[in-house]
Amino acid sequence: MNLAPTLKLDRPSQSAAGRIVKAECLLASVPFQSDATPVWAFTSAPRNNFDTLFVRLETDTGQVGWGEAFSRNEDVSLRALIETRLFPLILGEDAAAISRIKFKLEFGMQNFGRVGPTMYGISAIDIALWDIAGKAAGRPLVDLLGGTFADDVEVYASLLRYGTQEGVARATRRAIDEGYRYIKLHETTYPEIAAACEAAGTDAQVMLDVNCPWSVAEALAMDARLAGLGLMWLEEPIWPPDNYRGLARVRQSRRHRIAAGENAGSLHDFVAMVDAGAIDIAQPDVAKTGGVSELMKIAAFCEASAIEFVPHCALFGPGQVATLHICGAQRSVPMLERLYCDFEAEIYGGATLPVNGRLPVPRAPGLGIEPDLDIVERYRVA
Ligand SMILES: [Mg+2]
Repeated sequence: MNLAPTLKLDRPSQSAAGRIVKAECLLASVPFQSDATPVWAFTSAPRNNFDTLFVRLETDTGQVGWGEAFSRNEDVSLRALIETRLFPLILGEDAAAISRIKFKLEFGMQNFGRVGPTMYGISAIDIALWDIAGKAAGRPLVDLLGGTFADDVEVYASLLRYGTQEGVARATRRAIDEGYRYIKLHETTYPEIAAACEAAGTDAQVMLDVNCPWSVAEALAMDARLAGLGLMWLEEPIWPPDNYRGLARVRQSRRHRIAAGENAGSLHDFVAMVDAGAIDIAQPDVAKTGGVSELMKIAAFCEASAIEFVPHCALFGPGQVATLHICGAQRSVPMLERLYCDFEAEIYGGATLPVNGRLPVPRAPGLGIEPDLDIVERYRVA
């Protein structure tokens, strides 16, 4: 059943962006090659697929904007939530009124969660509206965010979880040979982490992301054990992710810089993190944390709080491209995260594949590159 609503207008739009007359979701799932385990497996049988949940908006002036909601495991329930709860609130709105639309969505949906699926959908709509704004202005998104500090951005290889010393060491060396100078691990056990650090040597800096597995006591024990490895940061050591006091306890050891934020829903979660003394590095995700609008607020807050801003990005669609523009617009240009896996097909036909560990910020209007619709249709699951 196609739930995508459309609208017939009784009067023309007043802005070049136009009024939103069509909104739809496309969910694609692309297989990838890897001998590692996806850390996002929510079932007992992890699949080597990566999903992209697109939001496509169309206006009466012919503009088309693309957004992305964080999605895993063919999440048709998230698609239905966006189509049935969010799209009806935006049809007929002037696409140029990004802040007003975002407020309308957040206020209208406040009882359905400030973190999680509702915010993922709002994030996707916000990204699509910024894409339209750029196209209507004839400028790349980065120019609308204040202009560029960098023509291209350093990309770090975010390795999946290998679980063996040989596997993670081999992947580390391969990533370095491909030109990456920064590697993030998703291992949780010392021998594998140490093997990767040894494999990297002085050729790359290594970060560690453990995805919230530990109590404070367990985290402090690992924090001490890992201290000699020279890790660039330690990411999400504490369960649950909103245990900011627990994160602060680990941070107080001063053995590692603490990174977190991919499980936050808005600016206000980052204020709470910083108030708790929980983080050195803020990692909002553009497809989870309120889109381009919210990430720019968080970036300003980080600047005022002397916190490093390094967006999380386990995305391969419009969310990844939007993050690239956001990174390029920062005075201290953050690295862009890319999960390290080889896809059967590339949504952007290879335009988002780093060369020597770097990616150019697109210069065409809006997000600046368009998804390959043949690829999207070929791998579409909903
Ligand atoms: Mg992470």
